[in-house]
Amino acid sequence: MAEKVYKGTGISNGKVSGKIRIFKSGGQAARGIYRGKAQELRRLDNARALALEQIRALEKKALATLGEKEAQIFEIHAMLVEDEDFMGSVIEEINGGKCAEEAVEITARGYGEMLGSLGDEYLAERKTDIMDISNQLIRILQGGVSQNEGEMDEKYILVALDLTPSQTVQLDADKILGFVTAEGTPSSHTAILARAMGIPALVGVGTVDGLNDGDFALLNAEKGVLVACPSEKEIKEFEKEKSAFNKIAKEHEMYLRSVMNKPAVTRGGHRVMIYANIGSEGEVSPALSNGAEGIGLLRSEFLYLSRDTYPTEEELFSSYKEIAVKMQGKRVIIRTLDVGADKQIPYFNLPREENPALGYRAIRVCLDREDVFKAQLRAILRASVFGHVAIMLPMVISLDEIEKSKELLEECKRELLTQGQSFDSKIEVGIMIETPAAALMSHSLAKEVDFFSVGTNDLTQYTIAVDRQNPNVAHLCEKNTEPVMRLIKMSSEAIHQEGGWIGVCGEMAADLSLTQQLVNMGVDELSVSVPYLLGVRGKVSECR
Ligand code: PEP
Ligand code: MG
Repeated sequence: MAEKVYKGTGISNGKVSGKIRIFKSGGQAARGIYRGKAQELRRLDNARALALEQIRALEKKALATLGEKEAQIFEIHAMLVEDEDFMGSVIEEINGGKCAEEAVEITARGYGEMLGSLGDEYLAERKTDIMDISNQLIRILQGGVSQNEGEMDEKYILVALDLTPSQTVQLDADKILGFVTAEGTPSSHTAILARAMGIPALVGVGTVDGLNDGDFALLNAEKGVLVACPSEKEIKEFEKEKSAFNKIAKEHEMYLRSVMNKPAVTRGGHRVMIYANIGSEGEVSPALSNGAEGIGLLRSEFLYLSRDTYPTEEELFSSYKEIAVKMQGKRVIIRTLDVGADKQIPYFNLPREENPALGYRAIRVCLDREDVFKAQLRAILRASVFGHVAIMLPMVISLDEIEKSKELLEECKRELLTQGQSFDSKIEVGIMIETPAAALMSHSLAKEVDFFSVGTNDLTQYTIAVDRQNPNVAHLCEKNTEPVMRLIKMSSEAIHQEGGWIGVCGEMAADLSLTQQLVNMGVDELSVSVPYLLGVRGKVSECR
């Protein structure tokens, strides 16, 4: 078989070799293959049966753990899967030549729009149920990752057109050697998750056409290259390079581990806290064993992304509590929900937008959806008695947003007090500096908060007008760090003047070529994905 070479941007420096598995994503539903009427109808029947099974199991669990009222939602879901009218429309679409996934999607969209337009609150709520069921059916129909017979236990290189953050969080990390996407950039959330998983990845290769399930491939993230169907000679050379690379990486890691427990202090005496960016409880232990002194960014939206319905306050609380307890008094900064833009969550039913990055996301959604925001704030407050918990607001552009958020926080505190629930009344509140507006207004904003954390991924996107999702312009980020650096400096001066502190939690925090400059600006904390903790700690101690 002829060798095929794909070039993109490497994420992490690793090298891996293995078989390819093509990811079939939900987003590709409309492009599914039509296998003929009979087969599509059979696929739909099977998916309905499996969906019903899953719903009944969830209903049983909800009955046992939550109660009858909460379990009712699953009864509604089951009714929808069995609904003659709804399924009749899906079958009509299949008869008209659509694959089962597309037929479900089209029907659900039509029903959703119809219910939403009736002006009846109860029926409008059913729209969410329809979307839930539609997503569940599509997911079953696509089976997530394609499952090649007899290869399920083997680790593989995942290949996708693109992966959304919600698809990425649901991947079975233990099965994946690395991944390659046609789209995406180094600061896209997919790349961020690859870094967190510590696996080599290649994003923005342009196209993945020509790659097939089962092709053997060599992935060199350092050079940004994937070679599929390589020659025997190439495989041998690659394996030699790979073991040399792994040996050096291991030795370096051992050295870094030997200095892991010393505080990160520059040669000039500036102390920098080394914190971890995480998205789930599962990352806490690895963070600690790699010397994290705190959690600088808990991307709390990942808890919402990996499910089909809103998490309850109780569920959020138990997850935050677990993290706070495991961190044993070390600071845990919980960023409030940053939904929207590239992190779409179907059950939020956010509107389609022309410019989602400039649209309805993060704090803008939270301030409108008080029920969702308050459930999260209450859960964070309740968890605060189990450790050292702080709150961080994303995508802030104005004082007004901070004031409104703090009002809601106070309201939550009052409610908890009347319910006899305890919380840390002095809980720290910080904001992310992710917009030029926040940096430019940092002198006023600093008076209202305890700390800043710079989200350089968004700050770069909004400052130099480079879409973090667009591989065609990704190269502009590397050479244009100066404007962002100036905004960090401005913010650092502002918060220090008010007696607060500043961290950096965007990907720039892990870029060792920038550490010296960040330290020079007085940055007090660097928060990075777990695999970068040791390297950043080592780099800080080499700084002047
Ligand atoms: C950032 O924008 O730099 C950041 C840390 O937030 P996220 O990457 O989740 O948008
Ligand atoms: Mg951001």
